Amino acid sequence: MAEGRDVLSLPVLLLNRHFVPVSVATARRAFVLLYGGAARALDDDGDTYDFDTWFHLPLRKTDDPLPVIGGAVRVPRVLHLTRYERAPRFSVRLTRRNLMIRDQYQCQYCGKRPNQRDLNLDHVVPRSRGGQDSWENLVVSCRGCNLKKGRRTPVEAGMLLLRNPHVPKWSTATQILLVTREPYRQWEPFLKAG
Ligand SMILES: [Zn+2]
Repeated sequence: MAEGRDVLSLPVLLLNRHFVPVSVATARRAFVLLYGGAARALDDDGDTYDFDTWFHLPLRKTDDPLPVIGGAVRVPRVLHLTRYERAPRFSVRLTRRNLMIRDQYQCQYCGKRPNQRDLNLDHVVPRSRGGQDSWENLVVSCRGCNLKKGRRTPVEAGMLLLRNPHVPKWSTATQILLVTREPYRQWEPFLKAG
């Protein structure tokens, strides 16, 4: 269980009005949405509550309590955005971490899987030659291959790529699972569907 102020940083899964996962918010944001009436909190059985009824639910051992005047309120695990229609964005952010996951922490030239700190991102077409920061032009590479390749293209360097770099087609549910170390069991039914 989280202590003190930390409870407001706990992750809460947000569902759109069709109960499709759209993102993960902090408990702080979740309480704002709940209090403002934009969302209802889900309990373990999938029943939904507005702020007032949620506020009066009894605390159980498994809950993370947010201290309030006169007691404590459960931090919800899942929130239903009752008026939010939009489907989740499927585009995956171009980040070092996501590139590492796409390339399975493996050098795309020699196939080695060294420690993460010995992995670099390599521009397939070097930046000095007009290569962009993009899913198609960035790959994971070990230091050795990175140095060896230098400012050359793979063809010039005689270093072929293991796979063609591409934009990952991860669903929102997959992305949520990738960034969450320990998803709550209350999230599972919604993430499975994605
Ligand atoms: Zn390598």
